[in-house]
Amino acid sequence: MQKRYIWTAITLTTCITMAQAMPVLAGRIIGHASANYATTQNVSTDFNFLGSEMYTYQKMEGDINLLKQKYEGVTSDSIGTTPDGRNMYRITIGNKDAGKKILVVGAIHAREYITTPLVMRQIKEMLDKRDEGDKSLDEVCIEYIPMVNPDGVAISQSGINGLNKEESKKKLQEIIDSWSEWGLKENQDKYNWFLNKWKNNLNGVDINHNFPTQGWKDRADSRKRPSNEHYKGPSAGSESETQYLINLVNNEKFAAVLNYHAQGQIIYWSNQHASAEVAAKDKAMADIVVSHTGYKLVSPEADGSKYGTGFKDWLDWEKGIPNVTVEVGIGTSPVPETQIENIWQQNKGVLPDIVKYVLGK
Ligand SMILES: [Zn+2]
Repeated sequence: MQKRYIWTAITLTTCITMAQAMPVLAGRIIGHASANYATTQNVSTDFNFLGSEMYTYQKMEGDINLLKQKYEGVTSDSIGTTPDGRNMYRITIGNKDAGKKILVVGAIHAREYITTPLVMRQIKEMLDKRDEGDKSLDEVCIEYIPMVNPDGVAISQSGINGLNKEESKKKLQEIIDSWSEWGLKENQDKYNWFLNKWKNNLNGVDINHNFPTQGWKDRADSRKRPSNEHYKGPSAGSESETQYLINLVNNEKFAAVLNYHAQGQIIYWSNQHASAEVAAKDKAMADIVVSHTGYKLVSPEADGSKYGTGFKDWLDWEKGIPNVTVEVGIGTSPVPETQIENIWQQNKGVLPDIVKYVLGK
């Protein structure tokens, strides 16, 4: 049974802003709704990502298969299996032998799963352009990881029953129990809040705080142990999801990375440890995103990169790979699916222009 929790949004925060020392209830539950697709076989012949239902791992799997049926030159594989037994799917299009490769990722943070249908739709966008005569994909290879954190997405969307393995459910229950001081047992709203706001992986680690930069040991950690958000992990690069992304980047040597988070309609582009050359490319990519979306640039003084341990920080600081982090949606995550179409209207055209930029056109 798929269940979801709907929250009133009374604060506007972004996923990368400084951690709160203690949880603040973002609102109270205004309703539980059972998604209506749980009991019927999904036989849709059109893409789930064009709809406005909660976008699950299963819907993504269906769409990956449909992309391969409908378009030439689409391949998919898994770059790793998560602790609860899900694939970190990679979809690849374009010229696999091209000198330039681009990576697009979504849903590193679980509750930001609205980014997954956006990234999926960007695959279709590039393929449609190709079929209309655009030649960009002859010269570039694009790899997409639409859901970096599928175990966490399952927790945010469906709670403990969203997990596959008994040992996973036990692990999640232990994390919940370890925060009993917050009244999670006594108060159903708080319990639901804790899971609905799940940002981390199954181990209770924020993958986007776990990258092995030189700043990891000094990075502030407001939780210091497995939790639903912010915990940076027991050691730098400790998490399998982190390692899969690291291995992918080391193998593929991407020319650029487009990294989607939610929410705030802002763009993190800088990193104080990036070389001038990489920073200039980061900024050029950010300007492309601004030209389509109108989102605001986060100032370098406020980007939190001093001890940054996110994917962006690692790419800028340790790998010298230009990249930009785009925060889509408004309100609080999980942002409602009613925003999907608006997010798409803002972001369509971003990736084709990033491709042109990388190709020097
Ligand atoms: Zn995020």
